[in-house]
Amino acid sequence: VAATLGLDVGGTKVLGIVLDDTGAVVAEHREPTERDADGLVDLLLSVAGTLRQQAPDVAALGVGLPGLVDRSGTLRFAPNLPGIVELPVGPRLSEALGLPVQADNDATCAAWAEHQLGAARGADTSLLVTLGTGIGGGLVVDGLLVRGANGFAGEIGHMVVDDGGIPCPCGRRGCWERYASGSALDRQARELVTGGGGARLVELAGGDPEQVTGVHVTAAAAEGDADAMGLLARFADWFALGLANLIHVIDPSRCVVGGGLVAAGDVVLAPIRVSLSEARLVAPEHRPRVEVVAATLGPRAGAIGAALLARAVQPG
Ligand SMILES: [Zn+2]
Repeated sequence: VAATLGLDVGGTKVLGIVLDDTGAVVAEHREPTERDADGLVDLLLSVAGTLRQQAPDVAALGVGLPGLVDRSGTLRFAPNLPGIVELPVGPRLSEALGLPVQADNDATCAAWAEHQLGAARGADTSLLVTLGTGIGGGLVVDGLLVRGANGFAGEIGHMVVDDGGIPCPCGRRGCWERYASGSALDRQARELVTGGGGARLVELAGGDPEQVTGVHVTAAAAEGDADAMGLLARFADWFALGLANLIHVIDPSRCVVGGGLVAAGDVVLAPIRVSLSEARLVAPEHRPRVEVVAATLGPRAGAIGAALLARAVQPG
């Protein structure tokens, strides 16, 4: 296995890394995200070019993209990159760089990275759930990455958990990520404080209720603040509802939770474990407990996964 290059397009930055044959990151470079189609391809070429100067022997490139990426490497739809549709990212990068390119959904890449090198290592069937603006996800079943017929598998954030519920940027209502993502917790925290509760949250936000976010919720909950703990318990319940649906579908032994909120550790994960064990699963007393653990690769998971997936397309 030669070195491979991995790129991850996030909402605010493009992160590129070079992974050597042992799985170690040997080079890293990032630039702010470009939001127009040609600009995005040029930016990816620029990040790849910078990394190739540091590691000239890369044999293939993988790229993780925030949206629906089809099997030919075309980004069909990206909700957070308005105006970018039907963009053949994979083919254009491959032609310009003269390298084989594997393009996938960013969370699919991250799930593969956690499976190979991170918190899902050793779990043959696992899922990754990433809490950010939305909920990203990726599934590994029986040791194989699940891409689906078109490459669109794992859009777990848009499972509807509340028919007719809160509107979602995807154009539908009641999607799981409106209730159990990082931005959902931000919104729930602001609803609490505008309703007159959560005094400690307002304090932690410097006295301005408008500045309250999920970070203040986890910080206050860690101190034992009752309002914050109540908010996290309800959040955990929404989270466990979606997680139980996924557990019933793929039967994982481990669920890895990623995203900024997870830095708070068991303050977030413990209520999720409680909600999951309480009547969310069919016949809980007859099934092994599903582990719910924090992701270990952090914000580099997508780029590392892209580089790992590039190994499958490298020559020889
Ligand atoms: Zn949605």
